[in-house]
Amino acid sequence: MAGTISPTDKVFLPESPHYEQLRKAFINANVPAKYPREIHRPVCVHDVIDAVNRAKELGIPIGVRSGGHLFTCMSLWQDGLLIDTSNLNRQVEYDEKTQTITYGPAVRVCEISEKLEKLGRFFPHGHAPSVAMGGFSLAGGQGFFMRGWGATVDQWVTELEVVVPDGSLIRANANENSDVFWAARGSGQGFFGVVTKFCARTIPARKFYQRQRTFAIGPNGKLFNEVLTLAIEQNEKTPKYGTEVAVCTFFPEKFNPTIEGDEISDPSSLMMSITAAAYVDSIAEAETLLSAFDYVPDGLAKVVVGPAPVILKSWKEVFQEQDMLVPYGNGEIWHIDSILNDPSIPLPEVR
Ligand SMILES: Cc1cc2nc3c(=O)[nH]c(=O)nc-3n(C[C@H](O)[C@H](O)[C@H](O)COP(=O)(O)OP(=O)(O)OC[C@H]3O[C@@H](n4cnc5c(N)ncnc54)[C@H](O)[C@@H]3O)c2cc1C
Repeated sequence: MAGTISPTDKVFLPESPHYEQLRKAFINANVPAKYPREIHRPVCVHDVIDAVNRAKELGIPIGVRSGGHLFTCMSLWQDGLLIDTSNLNRQVEYDEKTQTITYGPAVRVCEISEKLEKLGRFFPHGHAPSVAMGGFSLAGGQGFFMRGWGATVDQWVTELEVVVPDGSLIRANANENSDVFWAARGSGQGFFGVVTKFCARTIPARKFYQRQRTFAIGPNGKLFNEVLTLAIEQNEKTPKYGTEVAVCTFFPEKFNPTIEGDEISDPSSLMMSITAAAYVDSIAEAETLLSAFDYVPDGLAKVVVGPAPVILKSWKEVFQEQDMLVPYGNGEIWHIDSILNDPSIPLPEVR
């Protein structure tokens, strides 16, 4: 049974009406056949503590899910207990005095971005709007402009509120429980506690400028190496702070809503784009910072598709592009082979 689940419903057993809907609440429609014994949806820290104690009482492992964007659905444990943090501290608070924000683990990138925009502040959240801050922050957080401003969890997150395995609630920062603070940052799916809140510093908001140059690299992606080399070389010539560069290959017809299915009618239409962004106060600054991307070598000039001016983008536009690159909600299936998601895979098969 699909539909809205009341926040007052907090514990779901396999026979509960919404159990299957909750079990499958991942971005990947390829959800493994693993069935937790109980699914808990806490609305406060006390519910999280109850869930941790319940798992201890049953002697079963705990999985934690915030946004369900880890393609491998690692929070699902057969006969385990799944803690779904969707309704836990689902807001962003700002402390004007310290210029820090506090957010719950299931707050989405688009929610934090919207709040920051209203506040006139910035903090390097992830690129895709639907990713939750819980998994993003713990996994390191390759946030916007990371090449100069560092990984979000390393350089920006200042404190965590965590329920640790013995069921107690602690604060972890550079001075208090600093070992847990150290262990959490970059642990990703391997963290041993349940994070109930994150605290992070912010800086004044600026403007997002972007320039994108697209190359027709088909057939068979013949010019892939040349475009990648150009991206890497010009990236090295670009100042590190407040900039970022991304490379992407795509078939234009995948963005044509009238064409359905996975088959590509013209494989020679493969494109590759270099997207460079700058977070500054004016277009003049952005043009200077991104000027290395004016250059196109002779060998690629003939396959350039259109001009690549520096343009101002709203976060909404940036997120729309991200959603086009990784669509979701239509039964998309992702498959990842790794010894992390299946330790029984023979090593030679992990390529
Ligand atoms: C479309 C898309 C775009 C992405 N873009 C970026 C990007 O720009 N930068 C980047 O760094 N990453 C990016 N990622 C990767 C993403 O950050 C990770 O997959 C992250 O783990 C997703 O977090 P989640 O909470 O949505 O996922 P979940 O599947 O809910 O969580 C992933 C794992 O994190 C742990 N976890 C989650 N919440 C908690 C918690 N509260 N307490 C303890 N452990 C917890 C669990 O072990 C869980 O299995 C992207 C992923 C996708 C699908």
